[in-house]
Amino acid sequence: MQLRIPGPTPCPPEVLAAMGRQMINHRGKEFAEIIQGVTTKLKQLFQTKNDVFLLTGSGTGGMEAAIVNTLSPGDKVLSVSVGVFGNRFAEIAESYGAEVTHLNFEFGTAADPEAVRQSLKADAGISAVLVTHNETSTAVTNDLKSISAIVKEFDKLLLVDAISALGSIDLPVDAWQCDVVVTGSQKGWMVPPGLAMVSVSDAAWQAHAKAKMPRFYWDFTKARSYLEKGQTPWTPPVSVFFGFAVALDMMLAEGLPNIFARHARSADMARSGVKSLGLSLFPDEKYASNTITAVKASEKLDVAKLLQILRDEHDVVLAGGQASLSGKIFRIGHLGWVTEDDIKQVLQALGKALPQATS
Ligand SMILES: *Cc1c(COP(=O)(O)O)cnc(C)c1O
Repeated sequence: MQLRIPGPTPCPPEVLAAMGRQMINHRGKEFAEIIQGVTTKLKQLFQTKNDVFLLTGSGTGGMEAAIVNTLSPGDKVLSVSVGVFGNRFAEIAESYGAEVTHLNFEFGTAADPEAVRQSLKADAGISAVLVTHNETSTAVTNDLKSISAIVKEFDKLLLVDAISALGSIDLPVDAWQCDVVVTGSQKGWMVPPGLAMVSVSDAAWQAHAKAKMPRFYWDFTKARSYLEKGQTPWTPPVSVFFGFAVALDMMLAEGLPNIFARHARSADMARSGVKSLGLSLFPDEKYASNTITAVKASEKLDVAKLLQILRDEHDVVLAGGQASLSGKIFRIGHLGWVTEDDIKQVLQALGKALPQATS
């Protein structure tokens, strides 16, 4: 089976085997060793010396944590959005009473760093910027390095949804001065859903000290004080931790440059493969993501039918479009445990299924 959606992604057999073991006390010595090991290794893969926490929840929980831990109701926030997940980040901030200025870009395009500069210039009261590194709904990777340089010129807090980027696409958290960076276990990390991982910079801690948004489950202060004891404030997904310890060793053995290169090769193959099937990419190719490929569906292509044929007849599972993109695009996930061979299989199946789904 080729599960090629942008999470959950397939897990290597070593990871699955590690997760089959008996439960342990999550407040005992053995778990403490595991969480400390996992945290240390994660910091290497985040390329950061900042604190990193493993929060029990999906990526969206991590996004909510980023907001409620650093902001107060009434704070002015600039939302830089290029798709569904960018909009979600803004919605969370609004739900907790932030005053959000929306800098939205057309779906399929990347955020223009100059426009971020203009927005920050226009309103000195803005305290934080929300941005998506890799917009999974449109398969666009934003130029986070340039955006972050501008945000830091204005000395604002930068909260990053890197849920489908970190661990697969280069994101040097410290070099790019990202204050809170969020990712999720089921994306590029080769483990099942259940954990959101977040990094917290010194500036984010300073903001946290003043932040008044209500929070209980997602409190960074609690996460930090429990991590000092080798624990999490609430019961963690113990099995996911077992798997994570193995997956992180695999990632470190491969090395970040090799992981990034493998994702780039898989993405190249996906993009050139769909084009050679006569299809076109949905996003501006200059910003096409290395973790997911979005393909335009012509008027004549029935996306639902295509996905069904791929699943039923070829054991290939792809994703459709979200929100306004439903029926207009389909997406091939290529993050985490993926090689060019996997993409080759997807393309072969696609070649066979396309004519059957086209009127
Ligand atoms: C998957 C994803 C999310 C949502 O994560 P959940 O784990 O489903 O809560 C948010 N942002 C991006 C960019 C994603 O890819």
